[in-house]
Amino acid sequence: MRLIVGITEKTPGWEIVLEQIGVPCQHVSSDKSIPEDEFVVLIIPDLERTQNIKHILEYLNDGGSILIEADAAKRLLSQKVRRIYLKTLYAEEGPIFSQSIDCDLFNWAQVAQTASHCKNQNGKNVIGILSYGKGNAVILPSGLIASLLSTDDKQKFFYSESGGRLPSEKVSKVSKGSIRHIIQNVLAHLYHCRGVPFVHLWHFPNGAKNVFSFRVDTDFGTQQEVGELYSLCQKNRIPATWFVETRTQAKWIRLFRDMKNQEIGYHCYRHRIFPDDRKNRENIIQGLNILRSEGIYPKGYAAPYGEWNSSLGKILQEQQFEYSSEFELDYDDLPFYPYFNNSFSTVLQVPIHPVSIGNLRRARQTKEQYILYYKSVIREKLDSDNPILIYHHPGHQNLDVFQEIFREIQMQKIPSMSMGEYSTWWKRRSRIDWTPAFYNNKLVCDIQNQDESVYLRAISPKKKSAVFPFKKVIEIDKLAWKDQNRSSPVRLAHISKWDSWRLWVYRMENIYGKLKS
Ligand SMILES: [Zn+2]
Repeated sequence: MRLIVGITEKTPGWEIVLEQIGVPCQHVSSDKSIPEDEFVVLIIPDLERTQNIKHILEYLNDGGSILIEADAAKRLLSQKVRRIYLKTLYAEEGPIFSQSIDCDLFNWAQVAQTASHCKNQNGKNVIGILSYGKGNAVILPSGLIASLLSTDDKQKFFYSESGGRLPSEKVSKVSKGSIRHIIQNVLAHLYHCRGVPFVHLWHFPNGAKNVFSFRVDTDFGTQQEVGELYSLCQKNRIPATWFVETRTQAKWIRLFRDMKNQEIGYHCYRHRIFPDDRKNRENIIQGLNILRSEGIYPKGYAAPYGEWNSSLGKILQEQQFEYSSEFELDYDDLPFYPYFNNSFSTVLQVPIHPVSIGNLRRARQTKEQYILYYKSVIREKLDSDNPILIYHHPGHQNLDVFQEIFREIQMQKIPSMSMGEYSTWWKRRSRIDWTPAFYNNKLVCDIQNQDESVYLRAISPKKKSAVFPFKKVIEIDKLAWKDQNRSSPVRLAHISKWDSWRLWVYRMENIYGKLKS
């Protein structure tokens, strides 16, 4: 069987999430019959434009796996649906989900009336699982994938194991990283229904278990503060990425130019983003000219306050930045190319974890709590296979906290990369063109443009996981399979304002559930 996902229409949301996950995907026409072994899973984003329902039903009946949203399932599979409000989804660890997932949506959606998995804020199930002939279908809430294109933001609290008041930040309203986790788990389930391992491109170079990137926004720091933070990075061999605020630091930009083994990116001239093109362009060019006059040509950009709007997106593209990082567009997720004004941007978005010392300080946390907080972020990132990208400002000092974080990263043997290095590697990963197939317990990979730094990860039906390099033929039984061992829930962190009680209730239920099992 080919381990290729077929899709009847490539929508921007599906393109983003499938590329992040790293499964090969091909457009499939329903004009003619679809042999069940041609595609391991068939995604049907929009039934209205699909030509022939009969061929899809035959594929399903013959043992195929289908992934579909509720509005399309209503017609294709004669499913009854109902409309409910999805503020937050809670996926519980179990047969489908390898760990608990919290996912903010703030959307009305149609869901299958027979839905049996993944609850909303009122405890109503939202994901349906259906067997049909010899095949299986998963029915997602309508609009789930389109919500990956949302550019709305919202103030949210972030869960902190260290106790005390919760830090909060204005971030992307939709938890896009959590949607990706839901889709990846559901896809893996549908692969497993077909008796094959779920195989995808691994998220980190050279088979590393994760990567660490340290982002520094230099806002209003003094020369001394910048110098001290730089020394700490040097001492710990951390290739940090410095996004330079050029207005107050214009007179000593050379300090950044002369840094060794660090990446210099661009933050701003005036520390703000404007709603219109002209002002954004003027402001961005003004600071860029200051950097360029010192021989600095940044390829990365990070906006003040993590803000993002389509005007900014357009100008970053005009200025040919290779990547940017704005948590109002996305946080705690893998990189992706944003889609706006009817096309994909050429500027890769590299999401970070958006809580800084400033947010923790506003929540009146202590230094010991800062360290506990970041250690729990590292643990959660290791469990959820999201890169460890955290940020700091030289003016917020607390160098001993970061000394502890760097020590933890080194102890865990996690490689450090600048954000530019990770973004360049991610682009190489995106260019991989491969056609895997699975026969007699062997994974056979036809690969057009091999890149030795890109590895594969397989998840077996027994939920064991293996990361390994590309080879033409891979004997599945000989891989070094490991238990997934996930202790931290994904995005337990994120709850909206006024809702902290729910987080605690959920947390207690979770702990109680774990004690019982
Ligand atoms: Zn800033």
